[in-house]
Amino acid sequence: MVRPVRSICIVGGGTAGWLTAGIIAARHGQGLQVTLIESESIGIVGVGEGTWPTMRSTLKKIGISETDFFRECNASFKQGARFARWVTGADDDFYYHPLMLPEGFPSLDLAPFWMKYSEGQSNVPSFSDAVCFQEAVCEHGLAPKLITSPEYMGIVNYAYHLDAGRFASFVRQHCVKNLGVQHIVDDVTAVKTTPEGDISFVDTNKSGRLSADLFVDCSGFRSLLLGEALQTPFVDCSDVLFVDRALALQVPYENERSDIVPHTVSTAQKAGWTWDIGLQTRRGVGYVYSSNHSSAEAALEELRTYVGDRHRELRPREIKIVSGHRATFWKGNCVAVGLSAGFLEPLESSAIVLIELSAEMISAMMPATRETMDIVAKRFNQTTQYRWDRIIDFLKLHYMLSQRSEPFWSDNRDPGSIPDSLREQLELWRYRAPGDQDFSSNNEMFPAASYQYVLFGMGFRMDVSRLALDMNISQRAFSQSAALKSKWTRTLPKNRDLIEKIKLHGLQRI
Ligand SMILES: Cc1cc2nc3c(=O)[nH]c(=O)nc-3n(C[C@H](O)[C@H](O)[C@H](O)COP(=O)(O)OP(=O)(O)OC[C@H]3O[C@@H](n4cnc5c(N)ncnc54)[C@H](O)[C@@H]3O)c2cc1C
Repeated sequence: MVRPVRSICIVGGGTAGWLTAGIIAARHGQGLQVTLIESESIGIVGVGEGTWPTMRSTLKKIGISETDFFRECNASFKQGARFARWVTGADDDFYYHPLMLPEGFPSLDLAPFWMKYSEGQSNVPSFSDAVCFQEAVCEHGLAPKLITSPEYMGIVNYAYHLDAGRFASFVRQHCVKNLGVQHIVDDVTAVKTTPEGDISFVDTNKSGRLSADLFVDCSGFRSLLLGEALQTPFVDCSDVLFVDRALALQVPYENERSDIVPHTVSTAQKAGWTWDIGLQTRRGVGYVYSSNHSSAEAALEELRTYVGDRHRELRPREIKIVSGHRATFWKGNCVAVGLSAGFLEPLESSAIVLIELSAEMISAMMPATRETMDIVAKRFNQTTQYRWDRIIDFLKLHYMLSQRSEPFWSDNRDPGSIPDSLREQLELWRYRAPGDQDFSSNNEMFPAASYQYVLFGMGFRMDVSRLALDMNISQRAFSQSAALKSKWTRTLPKNRDLIEKIKLHGLQRI
């Protein structure tokens, strides 16, 4: 007998639950009944504030207006990350990982040219500044678009910073009002499995038994369905990525006209790094650190030094984190999305984008029947495992090239802590820059350009002596980048000014 998939039960109403509900409901309409259950007493983690440019297409696809998003989610523009003190720890040590590709990339690769120009010279601009004008846009505190740019369209590539609490309730309202998602506020008290290893129903406090053809576990760190009920093992990655504590603060601005920094600032500290994210009404600041390398008191003091004496009275929230992920992500009729699938430090904001990609894949490959579900699950697991592995490599890259001397940093350079896949890449990149040939899967997380920004930003040197380089070609591209920098740093509005205008007048809807 064929068992059709007609109903989906999502457990959890954080960023993962509501984005998954929105993405599935927007695509499948009446064809699938989507129900989301969330607890009133167990809150959401509420700290994910940095996103990727994918969020623009996600919001657009589920029918959300960008203007409303700015009005409701305390949101601001994000144009990449500025990594401060990661290389030497000196005051003037910083580099950018912008969201735009280098000029001419990928048909032209400026990396070897820049390497050649910078050989033995001290006054050459940094790699990111030489190949991409977005660094200058960020340094000037500018927005990525004009008030005349339609919704979701940018002059330069951009993502968002957002208030996670407001975002979840904003997406919830849209899902319930416009996309037909059934919302239940209740606690799941038990999960009942079949002898074959499927979930047959979840028991709740007030709403009785809820059964469904497919369950999506978005229950957060607890991983109520995939982890607890289905006993899926956790793969611990803390031998590669050491941070295991986060201290999170909400820091008020000096006044309501204070600049909103248009990028995430990530500053290396003694035993980890601080994030600093500018929203409309406050900053989200936090310190992720390794408790093996710092006491809680020392970490708190470092965070306080970072935010300054004016904010000494603020009490941070402490969150324990374990780096790693489930051994499988889709088992039987249950798939995990978000923290229930795993967690890695938020250095490149890779969690929310993984939620978007996972939900999109579930939605696009939605099995029509229980009989075909295992095939979809197998593919989903392969792709998702690949994505986690690539994220781990990319995060580790940020640490292994640092010259900082504190134990946290020297331990991070221990060859035993570096994945083989990353070590092999580094061997190749000593003689040529990362390129698309190094990342040939359709499911890459980070393009070759991202590796270039981090590698050369961290001072990695490449031997270009064997390459035949026509310097004239690169001159044109470097000049073009400089011309664009000059044009757009004179034209783009200040980040706060544009956000205030959007809230007042709205962007042109498309
Ligand atoms: C310190 C820190 C900083 C981060 N920064 C970033 C960042 O900048 N960018 C980024 O992409 N990601 C970041 N993340 C990750 C990001 O916060 C999460 O991936 C994202 O918020 C998704 O969380 P979630 O929805 O999976 O879980 P949660 O937000 O924890 O939601 C869990 C949901 O499950 C429900 N639930 C749990 N148990 C039950 C039950 N028994 N019955 C009913 N409901 C239940 C809860 O009520 C809640 O609604 C960060 C994470 C941390 C810890």
